[in-house]
Amino acid sequence: MNFEEQRVLIAGGGTVGLLCALLLGRQGLSVRLFDVNESPQADPRAATTHPATLDLLDDDDLASEMARVGLVAPIFQFWDRPSGEKIAEFDHAVLKDDTRHPFVVQCEQFKTSKLILDRLRKMPNVEILFGHEVIDVAQTEHLISVDVRGPSGVKTHAGTYLIGADGGRSIVRKQSEIAFDGFTWAERFIVLTTPFDFEVSRGLCYRNYFADPDEWCNCFKVSADGPPGLWRTVYPADPNLSDVDLMSDAAVQARMQKFFPAPRSYEIVHRNLYVTHQRVAATFRKGRVLLAGDSAHVNNPIGGMGLNGGIQDASNLVQKLVPVMFGSAPDNLLDLYSLQRRTVATEYVQEQSIANKKRLEARDPETRRRNLDELREMAADRVRARQFLLRTSMIASQRRVAEMTLAEA
Ligand SMILES: Cc1cc2nc3c(=O)[nH]c(=O)nc-3n(C[C@H](O)[C@H](O)[C@H](O)COP(=O)(O)OP(=O)(O)OC[C@H]3O[C@@H](n4cnc5c(N)ncnc54)[C@H](O)[C@@H]3O)c2cc1C
Repeated sequence: MNFEEQRVLIAGGGTVGLLCALLLGRQGLSVRLFDVNESPQADPRAATTHPATLDLLDDDDLASEMARVGLVAPIFQFWDRPSGEKIAEFDHAVLKDDTRHPFVVQCEQFKTSKLILDRLRKMPNVEILFGHEVIDVAQTEHLISVDVRGPSGVKTHAGTYLIGADGGRSIVRKQSEIAFDGFTWAERFIVLTTPFDFEVSRGLCYRNYFADPDEWCNCFKVSADGPPGLWRTVYPADPNLSDVDLMSDAAVQARMQKFFPAPRSYEIVHRNLYVTHQRVAATFRKGRVLLAGDSAHVNNPIGGMGLNGGIQDASNLVQKLVPVMFGSAPDNLLDLYSLQRRTVATEYVQEQSIANKKRLEARDPETRRRNLDELREMAADRVRARQFLLRTSMIASQRRVAEMTLAEA
């Protein structure tokens, strides 16, 4: 392989691909990243960044800058929507000996991407090519190459490894014939965003989960362009209704008024519908192809774990890829990446995100009562609250990762 080809290629410049580029670039490696879009995506998806993830982003003050441009949210609440009763409140302060960040940071993912891009622009060894679509992947024992459609036509780029960070519909995963088993929820998720202040009007905190057998709901605050910020409400969409029926002004207003009756119409800043899946790739490594982020695993957003998992993938992967690239570790270290991250994607993120949804939507009165009682009891018991928060904040899954060894890979 010639010197030109000693580089890591990355397909996808979402937050996960950009973070992989930053972490590799910091170590002096040559990186070339392609993203099909002309500029970073600005749609309102992830915001919740958990303590275990923030602990990985301390270098170069990334975590503290995320807190500065976002909102620090130490507590979250569970509510029973039909009765309007607050069931439980959890405070991350109980994790003060478990993490350097005993709080969540609500930072929209396009802001995190921008903070990463600002740092990447200072790295001459990292090329970020927006407006470039990866259309084909091929690998030999010694080399990986991708065909990329850019402004001046299709060109082939060669490298040592390829990170597929190209999202849930990953072409890298498909071309590498890696299965993506799981299922798709029948109902899509509706996200309606408003400046209406639910803290002042209804006493909500920045992260709230509403259990309801008819229509569960999540309500979060994000800082948006600065004070006063915006509130995102998330609901299940009736699969029998058309997009027009779901997203018309009248339907949106009716949904918001049902959530919280207000004297005036709600100002709606964004309205989005998302198809939601639960899937994990059969492997996160195939030869010189490595998957990270949504290309490797997707889950419903209740609990805010998708991007967090992707950031944790990026950190874990780069820790292994750097010594492999420099020749100081054997390349089967990358199998450990696949084992560790795939195990927690399955055992923790899939399991927990499905359980989170089932808890909110439970219909059977006895199951509902049990769920709500359990939340009340956990919130009232410091030991149980800490155990619960270790899982929700993804510290438990990071500890599980640390237990796994190369011998198991
Ligand atoms: C409503 C909602 C709320 C969410 N909230 C949270 C939350 O609070 N916390 C959380 O952790 N997660 C959350 N998630 C999940 C989170 O948004 C995703 O997990 C995250 O976007 C994954 O990042 P990624 O970089 O892996 O993929 P993406 O963000 O999908 O980025 C993939 C990139 O690849 C590019 N690309 C695709 N194909 C190609 C190609 N062929 N060639 C070149 N480039 C390509 C795309 O343009 C894109 O920029 C939420 C999701 C939804 C839908």
